[in-house]
Amino acid sequence: MLESIRCRFFWGFKEESKGIYWVKWRTALASYDQGGLGGLYDGRGRGLKSSVWENIRSVGAVIDSLDIPFNNSFVRKVGCGDNTSFWCDKWVHSRIPLMFQFPRLYALECSKNCLIKDRWCLENDIWKGNWDWRSYPRGHALSELQSLSSLLDGFVLRPQAKDGWSWALSNDGLITVNRLSSIIDSAYLSDCSPGKTHDWISLVPRKINIFIWRLVLDRLPLLSNLDSRGIDVPSVLCPLCGDHPETREHLSIMDLVSGSLGNNFPRYGKTIFNGVFYSVLWHIWAWRNKVIHSKIEERQEELKVDIFPRVQSSSLLCFPTDGVRKSKS
Ligand SMILES: [Zn+2]
Repeated sequence: MLESIRCRFFWGFKEESKGIYWVKWRTALASYDQGGLGGLYDGRGRGLKSSVWENIRSVGAVIDSLDIPFNNSFVRKVGCGDNTSFWCDKWVHSRIPLMFQFPRLYALECSKNCLIKDRWCLENDIWKGNWDWRSYPRGHALSELQSLSSLLDGFVLRPQAKDGWSWALSNDGLITVNRLSSIIDSAYLSDCSPGKTHDWISLVPRKINIFIWRLVLDRLPLLSNLDSRGIDVPSVLCPLCGDHPETREHLSIMDLVSGSLGNNFPRYGKTIFNGVFYSVLWHIWAWRNKVIHSKIEERQEELKVDIFPRVQSSSLLCFPTDGVRKSKS
């Protein structure tokens, strides 16, 4: 079911029928920056709708299996130490709970669930251990105590700050779906995504963005592309002018698509400029399809059609004068 919707939407044929898959599905899944359609999550953080943490926890194991150390990426950030277990939480640099690092001391501890603030206290302006042993450590336990003391040497609690979590996979310690999705993309899709292709313009309908994406990847059923894939076409000449082979370059001006023109526009102006340009290309493509699929006797009539009013009316629909509005389709 999903597969057949996919086929019809992207490549224009039904799953049962014979057709060409123009872009690898994994490439299409990559985020916009990686040259895909942002399919794993939608690239703007809308993919995981309810209870993000629930989702994150349940997919943790899957993410780990991609060689991303996800489950170990959550680090306890200690503030005043009133919400972190001294022995059982991972909070010191090594990220192993102290109960495993110092098992003999843990065995001697009177209160196994004590908090950091119970065991690390300020006394005469010096931060030091405030231990509560069942019997004073000797032998191996004593050398564990010396190691623990030197591990904690210089550590201070911050009475004003709360204990919390920090995410080791981002520089600012905050987890965002966007950041996580781009880490997964890099790990999972690195071998097949082409890199950022072009600017996605939210002002124009998604179908136009997808059309431009296929154009930039040169994955449109242009006559020269069909010919190079061994499909019999009567001619590779452009059905509109009949003068040049129908190639990606002939259909578009690649400089404009990749955004190197229009750099002198203000940011929003450039977005509108690119959006109008995308619409123009899309309408030329729709026109070309009409011409190529029309009956021979109607073809001349179809070629005379003026597509400018169509471009104009769709641009007016997409680009309101009162600021940015996201298109619906
Ligand atoms: Zn032409």
